[in-house]
Amino acid sequence: MFCKNCGKEMNDNQAICLECGVKVGEGNAFCANCGNAVAPEAEVCLNCGVAIKKAAAGLGGQDKITMALICFFLGGLGIHNFMMGETKKGIVKIVLSLCFGIGAIFALIDFIKILTDKYEVNPDKAF
Ligand SMILES: [Zn+2]
Ligand SMILES: [Zn+2]
Repeated sequence: MFCKNCGKEMNDNQAICLECGVKVGEGNAFCANCGNAVAPEAEVCLNCGVAIKKAAAGLGGQDKITMALICFFLGGLGIHNFMMGETKKGIVKIVLSLCFGIGAIFALIDFIKILTDKYEVNPDKAF
């Protein structure tokens, strides 16, 4: 495993890079799999073919604060779900809001999960 911030090789059980002090998995300048330098917006390492963004893009590539705010104000309509690529969840929230008025309750749960880094983006799920 390699540091994604400085490209230095690390042990698999290291939590922090001893070279630059950055937490394992943070940074976007190097491939964690082979240590090759990659473009910050690259989806895949051109050297070894491993997906780069997977771990970092916990919210479908969206910014955490942005998603939390949108979820808080527009979450009842599932806007944050649509933005993270979760169309099914978004539609369910709209239906819950329009038919039962309870979409906001589920949005509030999402809001708390986003803030506590517990939110898992899953486009296949409806809830
Ligand atoms: Zn480092
Ligand atoms: Zn690589």
